[in-house]
Amino acid sequence: MKVSLANALGTCFGVQDAIDLAMTPAFGSDLTIVGQLVHNPQVNESLKLNGVSLVSNMDDIDKIKTKKVMITAHGAAEKTKKKLSDAGFTVYDASCPLVMRVHKTIKSMVVKNYFPVVIGQQDHVEVKGIVGDLEEYLVISDTKDLKKIELSGKRKLGIVSQTTLQVEKVEDIVGKIRESKYVDEVYFVNTICQPTRDRQVA
Ligand code: SF4
Repeated sequence: MKVSLANALGTCFGVQDAIDLAMTPAFGSDLTIVGQLVHNPQVNESLKLNGVSLVSNMDDIDKIKTKKVMITAHGAAEKTKKKLSDAGFTVYDASCPLVMRVHKTIKSMVVKNYFPVVIGQQDHVEVKGIVGDLEEYLVISDTKDLKKIELSGKRKLGIVSQTTLQVEKVEDIVGKIRESKYVDEVYFVNTICQPTRDRQVA
């Protein structure tokens, strides 16, 4: 029996689409979500009632008992997806297209010889996914972290932001980076997603 979930008020389309995919009856009890999809305990409970298993991250790969696994809306590095498929799992990717846009943007910056900088929380699953395929990068969360840029010695920066940050905060950090005497060039793409922006003006 499929347990229905009310569309939680405030759930963005990316997360809702991932929940809907996980609730697809065809999965039966053969799906494990890798990583936290939502912080809402009721949603997690409903997923479990529908037979969906959850593991908190890739460190728990040995605990996965299903053949099918799902990447959450927050995305994951290509090497993470490969690790799962190499381990024999069938990988369903519910990465939000707006997160994938950030992956694509930062990789294209690297191709153009910009040093990649992500404004975001170092330990956030989305940020880990964004930087997971990069050889070198910086994550900064605050103007206090500008010292990291100075110490890196990198002067041509490609900057993106975690999708869920405050617009003013990100613009302030980027403004300070542009003013820095240690930086020659800044290529900034503001990758805060539209649902987040809409919430901030609501
Ligand atoms: S990028 Fe925005 S829309 Fe997509 S999952 Fe994250 S918060 Fe939701």
